[in-house]
Amino acid sequence: MRALAKRCAIDSKDKWVEDNEQNYIECYCPGCPTYHECMKAGGEKLFCARQTSKCEIVRLGCECGECSVAIRSRLSLNYYCQDGPARF
Ligand code: SF4
Ligand code: SF4
Repeated sequence: MRALAKRCAIDSKDKWVEDNEQNYIECYCPGCPTYHECMKAGGEKLFCARQTSKCEIVRLGCECGECSVAIRSRLSLNYYCQDGPARF
């Protein structure tokens, strides 16, 4: 049991950004040029804390660098919608 708890703790710390309501609200993704109707229809955003988009991505620009979630979390990359979430 203790071993399981320890493994879960490691797994939860693997992702850098917390998937919570506040971060979801603050996410800049819907305002970026790459974001489109497919992502909107799926309620997709906060890719830095979640997973890649299920939609096709054409890189037209990324707003992650301006986002308060990224600044607070000290993220330095972009295109989490295509490259996957920020990890330790
Ligand atoms: S991760 Fe960047 S490129 Fe992708 S939707 Fe969000 S702001 Fe746009
Ligand atoms: S860093 Fe990018 S994916 Fe993460 S919350 Fe900000 S805009 Fe959304």
